Amino acid sequence: MMNKPCEKKPFATQRLALDALANVRRHKMHRRDRQGGHGLRQISVYYCEEHGAWHLGRAGANYKNHQTAPKSAVPKISTMGELRRKFRKLEQQMDRERKHRVFLIGKIVEADLEQQRLDREMRDAQDAALKEMGYL
Ligand SMILES: [Zn+2]
Repeated sequence: MMNKPCEKKPFATQRLALDALANVRRHKMHRRDRQGGHGLRQISVYYCEEHGAWHLGRAGANYKNHQTAPKSAVPKISTMGELRRKFRKLEQQMDRERKHRVFLIGKIVEADLEQQRLDREMRDAQDAALKEMGYL
């Protein structure tokens, strides 16, 4: 990547970055520097993937690795119809999975019973053989 390494001060959470931003704003307003409120209003907080942390700066700054927020944090809004379809699909899926699990449990129980039957048969055969040889 051609991005220059990020040298901004990282904040662990968005909350901390916003607090710091509020402080900066208060300070700069007090100083009435030439940028005035205008430049400051554009300053925001954004998520830096390089740091895995939040920075103060202009949203959409010229860093490709900087985003205004982690993508996963932006909730996707679904319509009621979409939600209903999603739920129905989930329900059907769960039904299938539950049936499959019941089927598997049945198979396991069957196999277990079969194993017990074989064990019993084996023991009986051994007993019979030992008896025949006069050991029992
Ligand atoms: Zn950074």
